[in-house]
Amino acid sequence: MVRVFLLVYNMDNQVFSTKQIDPKGPWDVVIVGSGPAGLTAAIYTTRGAASTLILGGEAWGGQLMLTTQVDNFPGFPQGIMGPKLMEEMRAQAERFGAEFVEQNATAIDINKRPFELTAGGKVYTAKSVIIATGAETVWLDVPGLQKLIGRGVSSCAPCDAPFFKNKKVVVVGGGDSAMEEAGVLTKYASEVIIVHRREAFRASAVMQKKVLDNPKIKVMWNTEVIEVIGVEKVEKVKIKNNKTNEVSELLADGLFVAIGHKPESEVFAGIIEIDERGFIKKVISDKGEVTSQTSVSGVFVAGDVHDHKYKQAITAAGFGCQAGMDALAFLSETSK
Ligand code: NAP
Repeated sequence: MVRVFLLVYNMDNQVFSTKQIDPKGPWDVVIVGSGPAGLTAAIYTTRGAASTLILGGEAWGGQLMLTTQVDNFPGFPQGIMGPKLMEEMRAQAERFGAEFVEQNATAIDINKRPFELTAGGKVYTAKSVIIATGAETVWLDVPGLQKLIGRGVSSCAPCDAPFFKNKKVVVVGGGDSAMEEAGVLTKYASEVIIVHRREAFRASAVMQKKVLDNPKIKVMWNTEVIEVIGVEKVEKVKIKNNKTNEVSELLADGLFVAIGHKPESEVFAGIIEIDERGFIKKVISDKGEVTSQTSVSGVFVAGDVHDHKYKQAITAAGFGCQAGMDALAFLSETSK
């Protein structure tokens, strides 16, 4: 096999690193990320006859790889396990010819055409790029929590609330997400307790009112979760009143963490326009439309890395479809 290397020089003209260039490039589309947004984009671009490479990440598949049963993705009347759903999406994209590299993209050079993306020490070239790197749930950093994710600890009430029918659950947070999670949970749980670290919510007034008017929801102000207790699943939540320092335990079957999401956009900072919270911005396209185009022509975005509102697998897949179609339109226009 012929290997192509890119020599990188320092200021004294000495070679200080060599990078292997992927000989299959330039790809029509390189997709960064392999959650529902990235994989759906790949299904569309490959079916549109565009050569497609997915830089899927070392931990490929996104947030659904950490979930158990997914009951709100259409087409699966009995539900489907999150990792299984992602394997099926990947297989579907690969069936149409998408190639998959399980490496994290660590750099992108948008000043070059084709674009250059680095992953696993190798440089991949691309005529267009779709960013679908998703977002990470911000979890509480307390003992016992990590090992119980998917076993009572969740960050998605629309996904997991039905598992808590007639059960007692705790929600942490005081923003719109926490209000929304609590509201969804009341449809199933017998009791919902919001534990908030201050004595006022930051959520919008309308959403606060809904929560405070709901007799199923109780609020514990000035309170922090300091430990999650359980062997196979969540059994208790240890809490501390930060005014009195009193520590106590709440019996609970579930803990919903709603303290924010962090978009995975660091690699693109300073290169592509990002808002103050780290979400990649869409811009008005050359045709005056809001599509999935970012501030760089030929670079598109899909899913939770730009969406702070819906944050669902199905919306991410929909955004992936849009980005795939936008990339195909871009390729067809620029190849004229
Ligand atoms: P957010 O507004 O940043 O609120 C995060 C909440 O978590 C805050 O109340 C914060 O407490 C608390 N928190 C943060 N770190 C914590 C920690 N380590 N321990 C305990 N509590 C902690 O996040 P969000 O609720 O996810 O909302 C994000 C954005 O999405 C917002 O712009 C929101 O309006 C929007 N959103 C909109 C909707 C809707 O319109 N339907 C639904 C969901 C989200 P403090 O208040 O003390 O800082």
